[in-house]
Amino acid sequence: MARADSVENTLGEVVRLVANEMVAEVCSIYLLRAGEVLELFATQGLNPSAVHRTRLRVGEGLVGDIAAHARPLALDDAQSHPQFAYRPETGEEIYHSLAGVPIVRAGRSLGVLVVQNRTRRQYDEEEIETLQTIAMVLAELIAAGHFVSPNEVQQVDGLGLLPLRVDGVQLTPGVAIGRAVLHEPRIAIQKVVAEDVGQELARFESAAHGVREDIDRMLEAHDMQSGEQREILETFRMFIDDRGWLERVREAISSGLTAEASVQRAFDDVRTRLGQSTDPYIRERLSDLQDLTNRLLLRLTGRAIVDPESLPEDMIVIARDMGPAELLDYDRTRLRGLVLEEGSAQSHVAIVARALDIPVVGRASDVLARIEPGDPIVVDGDNAQVLVRPAEDVLQSILDAIDARIQRRRKYAALRDLPPTTRDQVRISLNMNAGLLIDMQHLVEVGADGVGLYRTEIPFMVRSEFPDVDAQTWLYARVLDLADGRPVVFRTLDVGGDKVLPYVGTFGDDNPAMGWRAIRIGLDRPAMLRRQLRALVQAAGGRPLSVMFPMIADVGELQSARRLLDLELERASRRGQPIPERLRVGVMFEVPALAWQLDSLLRQVDFLSIGTNDLLQFLYAADRGNSRVASRYDSLSPALLRLLHFVVEKARPAGVDLAVCGEMAGRPVEALALLAIGVRALSMSPGAIGPVKAMIRSLDLGEATSFMRAALSQPDRPMRETLRLFAADHAIEI
Ligand code: PEP
Ligand code: MG
Repeated sequence: MARADSVENTLGEVVRLVANEMVAEVCSIYLLRAGEVLELFATQGLNPSAVHRTRLRVGEGLVGDIAAHARPLALDDAQSHPQFAYRPETGEEIYHSLAGVPIVRAGRSLGVLVVQNRTRRQYDEEEIETLQTIAMVLAELIAAGHFVSPNEVQQVDGLGLLPLRVDGVQLTPGVAIGRAVLHEPRIAIQKVVAEDVGQELARFESAAHGVREDIDRMLEAHDMQSGEQREILETFRMFIDDRGWLERVREAISSGLTAEASVQRAFDDVRTRLGQSTDPYIRERLSDLQDLTNRLLLRLTGRAIVDPESLPEDMIVIARDMGPAELLDYDRTRLRGLVLEEGSAQSHVAIVARALDIPVVGRASDVLARIEPGDPIVVDGDNAQVLVRPAEDVLQSILDAIDARIQRRRKYAALRDLPPTTRDQVRISLNMNAGLLIDMQHLVEVGADGVGLYRTEIPFMVRSEFPDVDAQTWLYARVLDLADGRPVVFRTLDVGGDKVLPYVGTFGDDNPAMGWRAIRIGLDRPAMLRRQLRALVQAAGGRPLSVMFPMIADVGELQSARRLLDLELERASRRGQPIPERLRVGVMFEVPALAWQLDSLLRQVDFLSIGTNDLLQFLYAADRGNSRVASRYDSLSPALLRLLHFVVEKARPAGVDLAVCGEMAGRPVEALALLAIGVRALSMSPGAIGPVKAMIRSLDLGEATSFMRAALSQPDRPMRETLRLFAADHAIEI
């Protein structure tokens, strides 16, 4: 009883004060209870009898919406909002405007704080910030079990202990088993209001200084394996010196908050403004800022960043999102996998994880709320899923799968030094696709002939500004050094579409894959393309160089791009710089229109590389990134194969080399079909080289070619099944 009374008193006092301060007729507090229910705990202005009676599910009504998305809402006409849910017992029908903020702690909504007014009032940013500050204090009290029993706080979000499968997206492949480490640092801000502003400012400056030093140490200590990782950390370090952000924190301190509350506030402000953005660059900046905020809070509250000894030997780290530096904080020898509620394949943390060779599943909804520290977890990057507390038999089958994978890897490793030659002695050129320096180490590991596609845009995407010619020259020269004489095909920038470069800007294409991207940007911004071509020529420094232009749709585009390359070659020779010993120029065949320009095109290129990822999406008008339509059209459809066959037949007499570098090339059955229609060079992700080589070495290409000729001349039939049967009959390893 005493406890209940004191709860009523505290919350009652808070709502009265807030209503007064905000000149609002209503102020209410809803708290989350077990079962994802938001219960009205205190109100000034609504019917008092509604307290503990009015309940909304998370996601229901405006209050539920605020909790579900953990974001503030300010509406001058709340009742006309589609989410508005009327609760007659509250008597709220007379109030028009509403502003609410989530009561959030460690990324979870624990409740909602709301004010309402009769008039159609516009709440300004400052008022929302005030509400957020109060919500922050409430969050700490809730977490300490002041209002809802600590047990219940633990159980909110419907935490269960049953096995669970959470689907996400693959950020990096592979499978790992381990025990969960929840990354949320859950830093409790004990004190929100400062007593001595000067002292708080000094505490903040000293913490910022400490974080700066930490990052510098990290830059030194982690023998950065590649330029990109180093760059990521350097970009990250720039944040702590960002004037605007530092000023925001200092202003908050001057307004009377403690240093830690001010740091949190500065972050919350940015998140409120940008949190809904789907722009990958902004999302990336946000997670960098979150990383920085956590670091500062840890310093300010005097807690160790991670106590490595307390962590399991086989860690699966679970986080909402994280910055690259945070991942590097974990002991690499114990880190097995990573699960993120957010994240994209291009995010900095994914790039670092790829370099560390750990599987990552991203966009795994609400995992933080559903996993307990220490839970057994399987991160299955290959199937884009996370298994939480898997049952024994499931675990066993995963262990079997991991084992089989290890065996397969061994088998492929044994093939490494054997040539990709068919049983009837046709040598196939097997190459790998790359995009980061770290990928280059696989070249020797998997025994590829060379790099058939170097996606130059990937290093551009992790930077905060356009790399200058020197930086690009350094990078490309490194790639050539690491290739150690094996050929590398550099594709010029293929950005635009979904590959956003922050410093180039987006142009709101409705249909980005068909929008302003790749060579179209390069030709409209010739200075940018020339800088890249200059860097490539300089990087080659007399060595052979292959340059490939992406998304060519018209021969004229190739000619314009080629002219820019010639200008760079002239420039180099004018300056007495070495020019490539052998220059090969090619285009990606991704746009179907090229099929009807082949006679002219083939006279002007040394090679063609078929990008089946884009070609298939344009051929079938099916967005490759949209799972509803992407898999609707089979890459083994007679239509695609006939088109490819047509291109092969044209390229051969023209003496133009032809390769396939889309994902299709890396799948054994598809690769079999490609070889059977006359393709002799393939380029794929490094992991696919082993399986494709095994297929090639078990294949009689003569037989496969005759089989395919007959199959393609038949009326349309499902080629995949036909090929599988053929492979089974002829003991071809697919
Ligand atoms: C392709 O389109 O097939 C290709 C290899 O290019 P990307 O996947 O980079 O668009
Ligand atoms: Mg493409």
